[in-house]
Amino acid sequence: MDKIICLGKNYLEHAKELGDSVPESPVLFLKPPSSLVEYPGICRLPKDLGEIHPECEIVIRVAKRCYRVAPQEASRFVDAMTLGLDLTLRDVQARLKKAGHPWEISKAFRDSAAVGAMIPIDAQHLALDFEHSIDGQLTQRGNVREMRLGIWECISLASEHFQLFPGDLIFTGTPKGVRGVQPGQKSHLRWGASLHFELMYAES
Ligand code: ZN
Repeated sequence: MDKIICLGKNYLEHAKELGDSVPESPVLFLKPPSSLVEYPGICRLPKDLGEIHPECEIVIRVAKRCYRVAPQEASRFVDAMTLGLDLTLRDVQARLKKAGHPWEISKAFRDSAAVGAMIPIDAQHLALDFEHSIDGQLTQRGNVREMRLGIWECISLASEHFQLFPGDLIFTGTPKGVRGVQPGQKSHLRWGASLHFELMYAES
């Protein structure tokens, strides 16, 4: 793996709940491999930096090196998918946005990219709703139908700007319902019958 590429504002309703203007195309940002946590890992939450929001997202794994791939070719370069959490320091991000600065420190911190076990990419599975609950309470429900850019367009957009390497992960944006978590809480992610797992939050 070389990097984690994330799309922001790929679901209209989430961009609206943040009070953001909605850009013509979703925005892109990177997280380093050091931000990755794989199930059954634990997300250690940074202290004293304000609200921390886990954003539940469909995650696609790159299988072959590629650059500037058309959407209709994209399926040849990826091999697996799962659900993940794009952890965001929301107060820090709000300050950075206001100042017109890059988002990195609110997005690329340790344990900020959590993912479940990989499953094969399958069109029927892709069409199922996915769900995110925090301590048993449903907070987010999403479906690829609500995405501004579909899965293949997300891969194409990422490859338009970055050379993709085997093992790279693409986070495809989050639906509405995002809210904060504290150490001791846990997220439950579910996508159909075959993918469901819990991620725990701890103090750093
Ligand atoms: Zn996100």
